[in-house]
Amino acid sequence: MVINVQEKRGYGLSLNYRHFEATAVELAENMLIPVGFSCWVRREVIIMAKLMIGDLEIEVIRKKIKHIYLSVHPPTGSVRMTVPARMAQETILFFARSKVDWIRKQQAKIQARPVQPVLEYVNGENHLYFGKPYVLKVIETNGRQRVELSADGVMNLYVRPNSTKDERQKVLQEWYRWQLKAAIPPYIEKWEKEIGVSVQEWNVRQMKTKWGSCNIQARRIWLSLELVKKNPCCLEYIIVHEMIHLLERYHNARFYGYLTKYLPDWPEIRKELNS
Ligand SMILES: [Zn+2]
Repeated sequence: MVINVQEKRGYGLSLNYRHFEATAVELAENMLIPVGFSCWVRREVIIMAKLMIGDLEIEVIRKKIKHIYLSVHPPTGSVRMTVPARMAQETILFFARSKVDWIRKQQAKIQARPVQPVLEYVNGENHLYFGKPYVLKVIETNGRQRVELSADGVMNLYVRPNSTKDERQKVLQEWYRWQLKAAIPPYIEKWEKEIGVSVQEWNVRQMKTKWGSCNIQARRIWLSLELVKKNPCCLEYIIVHEMIHLLERYHNARFYGYLTKYLPDWPEIRKELNS
């Protein structure tokens, strides 16, 4: 049984449910309570239900898939299980029960995290740039809207007079995007040589739950815009991680073997990334 802990800000695992069908037993008192609806998404019927194990609430989604996916999501630690459409209720229950300790552990991790402050884009606010904190200074201009960093740790944000919070955020996000995009190619070039793979296409996206993703067929890598706020070693780690997927699709021993070979200190970097 391979448990595949995903590299994201939530915690997830997936496994082939056939292993469980064989060992599933009758566990009756917990019922799957349908809470939702069925709807058509990409021509698949999706049925949602709620499962309670003690005080633990699990949202169960039945879909036309082959594996069970279990994930715990920030900020509240909500739990979601996506299961094959026709999977027996006892199997779902058996699987959920067998993972209660794991779920509690992930929820504890999420609760232990610092809460992300709500940003207002006003003077004096802290903003990160590649791991370093800067104090924001909003400067009104009728010229080009831009961001300039000063050596003494000030982030000068030039925006139109009477700009709204959203407008300021947009200027900063665009600047962040360009900065991150400029930082990526040297890493890709370096690691294409080291690992011996080639990346066809890459881009930066706003991603809610992941730091990066890799489409193996298209050899396309997407990187989260949030990486611009982290130490550059985190960006490099995610790039290496996604590029190793071009050698190995799954997060298995072979995958981690490559990761350790190319970036031996990846566990520390990952800790920093998720801190
Ligand atoms: Zn991965």
